[in-house]
Amino acid sequence: MLYRFSFFSVIASIAFIGTLHAESFFKPTSIKLTNGFDFPVERPDADGFYKSRGFRAGGHLGEDWVTDGGSGHSLGQPVYNIGQGVVLLARDVHVAWGNVIVIRHAYLEKNQICFVDTLYAHLDHIGVKEGATVERGQKIGTIGNNHGMYPSHLHFEIHKNLNIGVNHTGFAKTLVNYWIPTEFIVKRRTLPEGGRKAILPITHFDIPSPSSYVARKHRVLHVKKSTKKSPVKKIF
Ligand SMILES: [Zn+2]
Repeated sequence: MLYRFSFFSVIASIAFIGTLHAESFFKPTSIKLTNGFDFPVERPDADGFYKSRGFRAGGHLGEDWVTDGGSGHSLGQPVYNIGQGVVLLARDVHVAWGNVIVIRHAYLEKNQICFVDTLYAHLDHIGVKEGATVERGQKIGTIGNNHGMYPSHLHFEIHKNLNIGVNHTGFAKTLVNYWIPTEFIVKRRTLPEGGRKAILPITHFDIPSPSSYVARKHRVLHVKKSTKKSPVKKIF
């Protein structure tokens, strides 16, 4: 999210927290190790794009990518999966995120199998389904503006902690849980994989559902209207 919209982001985040509910959606599966990572725009090197906002621990937990022409020219530009992976989440979760995709990747480093989740938010269009295997460099969607809430840009994160999903709350906003995206990618452009596969770990993370979002929205409206006279029902 862009900094100048931070006030709205805070409001959106508050609303967002209230919509969370636990949902188990991820089945164990095996996946090929990726042979490296690319940038999520204009693969493989993000030529013609720049970061309008970088990663900051405690604040902005990803990078915002726009075309050299600015956010006005970014709408509809392709977004690419950065490495071989499996789609965990691909849906409109409203409020702070809009259309969001989360992909899990396995890779080999120092002879250890490691995992990361990548998150692509505010998309105009989602082009993949949950549970699908996606190739490195595959187009997965297009840059959007979260239903008009922000200037068009890709908000992109890389999670060390596989329990984060789309929920920043409850996890330290530090490098313990997050990678700095550009740094991570640059150091891992080419990786050994040897055709090996890994069993992806089972994790559950909280996601808001459209139905709970709508239900809450209606409740909030009801409370606002009824604060003058009627007793207000406790809604939490
Ligand atoms: Zn952002």
